[in-house]
Amino acid sequence: MEKALKLQGEFLVNVSHELKTPLNVIFATAQLFKMYCDTGSLDDKKDSIVKYIDSIKQNSYRLSKIINNIVDLSKIEAGFFKLNLSNNNVVEVVEEIVMSVTTLTDSKGLNIIFDTDSEENIIACDSEKIERIVLNLISNAIKFSHAGDEIFVDVTSNDKFVEISVRDNGIGIEEKDLDMIFDRFKQVDKSLSRNAEGTGIGLSLVKSIVELHGGSINVESEFGKGSKFTVKLPKVKVLHENMIYSSNVRSKDENIQVELSDVYS
Ligand code: ADP
Repeated sequence: MEKALKLQGEFLVNVSHELKTPLNVIFATAQLFKMYCDTGSLDDKKDSIVKYIDSIKQNSYRLSKIINNIVDLSKIEAGFFKLNLSNNNVVEVVEEIVMSVTTLTDSKGLNIIFDTDSEENIIACDSEKIERIVLNLISNAIKFSHAGDEIFVDVTSNDKFVEISVRDNGIGIEEKDLDMIFDRFKQVDKSLSRNAEGTGIGLSLVKSIVELHGGSINVESEFGKGSKFTVKLPKVKVLHENMIYSSNVRSKDENIQVELSDVYS
């Protein structure tokens, strides 16, 4: 109980910091715009205003991500988080996600490579949630890699399972920390991930969503050499596809922007 309370306390401090950073940017930009209005310099500053609007958008995405994650974790805990299962080609879902992040990885000097042992693997999954899982793992791979590094996203399968793996050759994770990174609110030593934003929710959410699919997730890592996260999903199909309900009111593009909001700069 004491440990849980301490972790929760650390989480609140982290979350407040994570919420405050984008809020401060938005607030400061509002003040700047007001100053431009007061001094009648709106027209002169048009170019920089366009840039500031982008930054407001980016920081709003970051706020959205943190809030979504907190709400989803609470839903999972309360048992209200529902999957929208239908039979989907998981290879295509993952490949599309990889394609959608190449502009970002290019801009960071990272090379992302997709590979699969089969063009089609149709399984029962919630494609929107699978996208979220993969984006979360890719987002971490980007956060904890350096320019020039590579990220490999592979989809392989056997009779029983489809495996999606995201491997990077970034900073890696110390063995003593491997067990706890899926714990709620847990981040490895802040000094190592200083350049990275985060609340420590991502992986715990990923794990819960994978488990709701009847799957599992594991990590292999060597400190200083890189990490590999493997998601194992059972090869099953649903008889009754749930296509009617969709919680997703945002466009797919926007989902990607939200999920990757802490690695855009
Ligand atoms: P956060 O939002 O803080 O990134 P996560 O739950 O996604 O939270 O990750 C928890 C911690 O696991 C991170 O803070 C980081 O220390 C470690 N981690 C996750 N993915 C990687 C990776 N690919 N390489 C190195 N460390 C990682």
